[in-house]
Amino acid sequence: MSDERPEIKYTKIFIDNEWRDSLSKKTFPTINPSTGEKICDVAEGDKADVDEAVKAAQRAFELGSEWRKMDASQRGRLLSKLADLIERDRDYLAKLESLDSGKPYNDTLNGDLPFAIKCYRYYAGFADKIHGKTIPIDGDYFCYTRHEPVGVVGAIIPWNFPLVLQSWKLAPALCCGNVVVMKPAEQTPLTALYFASLIKEAGFPPGVVNIVPGYGPTAGAAISEHMNVDKVAFTGSTEVGKLIMQAAGKSNLKNVTLELGGKSPIIVFADADLDEAVEVCHWALFFNMGECCTAGSRTFVEESIYDEFVKRSVARARQRNVGDPFNLKVNQGPQIDGEQLTKIMDLIRSGKEEGAKLECGGNRIGDKGFFVEPTVFSNVQDGMRIAKEEIFGPVQQIIKFKTLEEVVQRANETPYGLAAGVVTRDVNTALTISHSLRAGTIWVNCFHATQSQASFGGFKQSGVGRELGEYGLQQYSEVKTVTIKISEKNS
Ligand code: NAP
Ligand code: MG
Repeated sequence: MSDERPEIKYTKIFIDNEWRDSLSKKTFPTINPSTGEKICDVAEGDKADVDEAVKAAQRAFELGSEWRKMDASQRGRLLSKLADLIERDRDYLAKLESLDSGKPYNDTLNGDLPFAIKCYRYYAGFADKIHGKTIPIDGDYFCYTRHEPVGVVGAIIPWNFPLVLQSWKLAPALCCGNVVVMKPAEQTPLTALYFASLIKEAGFPPGVVNIVPGYGPTAGAAISEHMNVDKVAFTGSTEVGKLIMQAAGKSNLKNVTLELGGKSPIIVFADADLDEAVEVCHWALFFNMGECCTAGSRTFVEESIYDEFVKRSVARARQRNVGDPFNLKVNQGPQIDGEQLTKIMDLIRSGKEEGAKLECGGNRIGDKGFFVEPTVFSNVQDGMRIAKEEIFGPVQQIIKFKTLEEVVQRANETPYGLAAGVVTRDVNTALTISHSLRAGTIWVNCFHATQSQASFGGFKQSGVGRELGEYGLQQYSEVKTVTIKISEKNS
């Protein structure tokens, strides 16, 4: 057991490197999902606070400001310093993340924190390597491009990977010289606020990063509708992603990038090592309580190995250790809140009603906190709700297929296209599947192998644009073409 619970140090809105109450003086509670009890109250920002944050960001972005004049290499140094500070405080941050989100402490310390730190380091190194081209246009001209920051970036993030998703947005935005107004999810504001104190300590000028906790329909909508926000970077549900795009269209046509939901297929061929395949598919679904946009939540298994695969997957699911996230032996904490719990239980009920076979689990655990038994369904048919809708919980759907052609078609029959996996020893099968599935990421004989260097994002209704890697930088810069007439006269 990791004994001590973290002390809560910051609960206010962060604007201009200072802490403020919300203008309305309102607060909202953040809840410990392991107990359902309140951890503390947090300042509830809304439109008026977002306006203040945007003004601060605009001041920081004015021509001639400290931030605009800063050498790119110095921006990189600040990002490196930030990574050092997160590393210094990683144990505290991991505990705070586990307390507020219910993620197992082992996972936050050894998974989320290193990922966030590496993301800041990756983009720290890129800050002085962002450059344009010289272009041989026709005529006597010298033509070149500059990659300039977009300006005020509004970032709206969800609760399933608070620190990691914060880094995916902040690191590339700052690397390119933008200024940011960020709204963390109402369920998990605490690490974002502690992180704000590190922004100040690292030496970022006031107004470069502003963090406004609050609710989606108020603070979130104020960001996406704002006339002076130049871009919104959003991660969350497809439903809200559509609202963000509409708000951009109705306001100032701000640039929008969206990382949305998924119903990712993972396809297991009979030639695979069965135990390895079971493990990859188990991890694909159960990692992070199933609260993953990429979760491998449609496990397609070739007919000849189907029954044995189901048997071993059930045995594997039964080994999960569900409980207090601060217990070091626990690898599954609670779901994030009562709303998600209700949604998951409703989908489990629908699975049973529509004729899928409940192999194990299917119940809530206890009546305190939001724990769900690791659940496996077999005999799942494509038309069932559990095979179509994002469950965002520890519920595995195992589906039978016969041929490669058939499974490609069925796997692609979804409005989503975030990720997909294939488990096989045959290189031709791996490549055929990888090139046939309409998804932004394909994992072969692995899953959730996402890293800062490689791009991430969705086809179809799973998103717009890409995050991470060099591709991710394109979303945080505007390309400017400068064309100079070369005079034939020598003065
Ligand atoms: P969500 O509503 O999409 O929340 C994501 C973020 O958007 C939160 O910060 C939320 O604010 C904010 N938001 C909500 N309504 C908004 C609006 N009208 N304008 C601007 N921002 C708004 O997701 P959720 O309700 O937490 O979860 C619902 C489902 O979304 C899940 O069951 C899952 O299927 C999916 N989801 C996907 C991801 C992903 O990684 N792609 C992550 C989380 C959830 P609040 O602080 O008020 O929540
Ligand atoms: Mg909470």
